Amino acid sequence: MDNDCIFCKVAENSIPARVIWADTMFMAFHDINPKAPIHILIIPKKHISQLSVLNQSDSDWLGAFMLAIIKVAEILHLDHYKVNFNNGSCSGQEIFHLHAHLLQY
Ligand code: 5GP
Ligand code: ZN
Repeated sequence: MDNDCIFCKVAENSIPARVIWADTMFMAFHDINPKAPIHILIIPKKHISQLSVLNQSDSDWLGAFMLAIIKVAEILHLDHYKVNFNNGSCSGQEIFHLHAHLLQY
């Protein structure tokens, strides 16, 4: 838990979000400012700043994260969608708690 991190606060339900799905490791909720008709964020509940801090030892965990993204798409009955990660401020990353954008235009 990072006390200054907004998505850590979402993960522990101390700030509200429109949650779609969660398990012990991950959570999916609507983006507050959607850039597409469907715009969902999927986060790990534990604080990880960005994609590029992960390494070989995280491969099983990363597989579980990808499967969580697919599960959310299935829950929403999406048959086509985009998954986007911004990594680093120059890429547009504004919140430094790892999150996948799940988008359907
Ligand atoms: P980034 O630019 O870091 O990849 O994406 C951050 C996303 O988080 C943006 O699309 C933004 O609209 C969304 N966002 C920022 N603050 C909040 C919030 O408090 N709640 C929710 N649900 N989404 C947020
Ligand atoms: Zn965090």
